[in-house]
Amino acid sequence: MTTLRGGGATDVGRVRQINEDRFLTRDDLGLYAVADGVGGHQAGEVAAQTSVETLEQAFLESTTDGLVAAVKAANDAVWRLAQSAAEKRGMGTTLTAVALVQEDGEDHLAVANVGDSRMYLFQRGDLVQVSEDHSLVGELEREGQLTRDEALVHPQRSIITRALGMDPEVEVDTWQLLPYAGDRLLLCSDGLTNEVPDDRIASTLRRIGDPREAAADLVREARAHGGNDNITVVVVDVVDDDDRAERSSAALADEPTMAPGTGGGPTSVSGWGAQPDPGTRPSPTLTATRPPPAGPSRADRPRRVTWRVVAFLVVLTLIAGIAVAAIGWYARGAYYVGLDGDRVAIYKGRPGGLLWFDPTLVERKPLTTADLLPHHVRDLQAGREQPTKADADRYVNNLRQQAAEARPPAVETAPTTSLLFAPTTLLLPPP
Ligand code: MG
Repeated sequence: MTTLRGGGATDVGRVRQINEDRFLTRDDLGLYAVADGVGGHQAGEVAAQTSVETLEQAFLESTTDGLVAAVKAANDAVWRLAQSAAEKRGMGTTLTAVALVQEDGEDHLAVANVGDSRMYLFQRGDLVQVSEDHSLVGELEREGQLTRDEALVHPQRSIITRALGMDPEVEVDTWQLLPYAGDRLLLCSDGLTNEVPDDRIASTLRRIGDPREAAADLVREARAHGGNDNITVVVVDVVDDDDRAERSSAALADEPTMAPGTGGGPTSVSGWGAQPDPGTRPSPTLTATRPPPAGPSRADRPRRVTWRVVAFLVVLTLIAGIAVAAIGWYARGAYYVGLDGDRVAIYKGRPGGLLWFDPTLVERKPLTTADLLPHHVRDLQAGREQPTKADADRYVNNLRQQAAEARPPAVETAPTTSLLFAPTTLLLPPP
């Protein structure tokens, strides 16, 4: 037997005066709902309250049709109430509901939605939005005119295009999912999703096991992120699936044609009204065959991303380390002959340094700029690179030698030579 366990939390938020959200958790009926009322002067909360109460009372048959009938009864009740008094005219409410139903002798989860409250499936760490928002930005997003990120900050994101109580008739979108033990369902008003990104929601659902505590934590998170609207969250756990997961695995093993990503399976989408192409919905395919999510998905995968990010950072750090080592090796891998004041000196490094590698003084030579030829002085001011210390020593000796050769006879040596030879010359007898 399939068993569900749900918990909910709601909060007025940090800006609004009145909480116009309502929720319903009935484990015994297998019925859960979130409603977000609209229409000032307390009409919004009346609409939301009426919708969940009527849903609860009118859910008499545990089938998808029974759930749709209950949602339509809720619409009728809100519509009648709105017509009954002038101050309630124009009130309405979103309603997102999940019910455990029996179809063809099997347990299913039926999802019904009107408005922009949402139902998500959290399965094996992936969070996937199942319902579609009946909002202006939701429609623009489905048409490809807005991205999810653009929709999140769109100034007209609060305009809803479908709600209960606006008309005597209402179109109800529905989906069917197969319940698997370990799956979590999340129902929430836009007060959560406008404040907390999907990856944060998934992280909380992964972290907190108790559904009521998880719902309360998500509400707290939405408050902390701004709390600009009423916030309502219901978390429903599939605690027992009548061994469906095991039977499904066995069936998958027996039927290699039902490969991951091929879709199909015992159930898919049932729709009423303006239902888009079922093929675009990830969840029913997911639950029918339990393949990994195929194609681009809005679901986040923080655990996988985290490991990839770690691996990426390790590689990046290695590359950066190697680059620094290579630059250091190059910067410090040579000598040059330069000047330390007016003294000729040998440095380790590159003339002027390289990045943060400054050259270091290795040796000061007993040679000054006054001892050198002028163009050699200019060379040393710029620095003359040498591959090794020995080459640098040789270069300095060379400079010294060239300067000595180019210089006119030195003052000390010339007189000595003259004195040696001059007397000899003078002593020679005339021929
Ligand atoms: Mg709201």
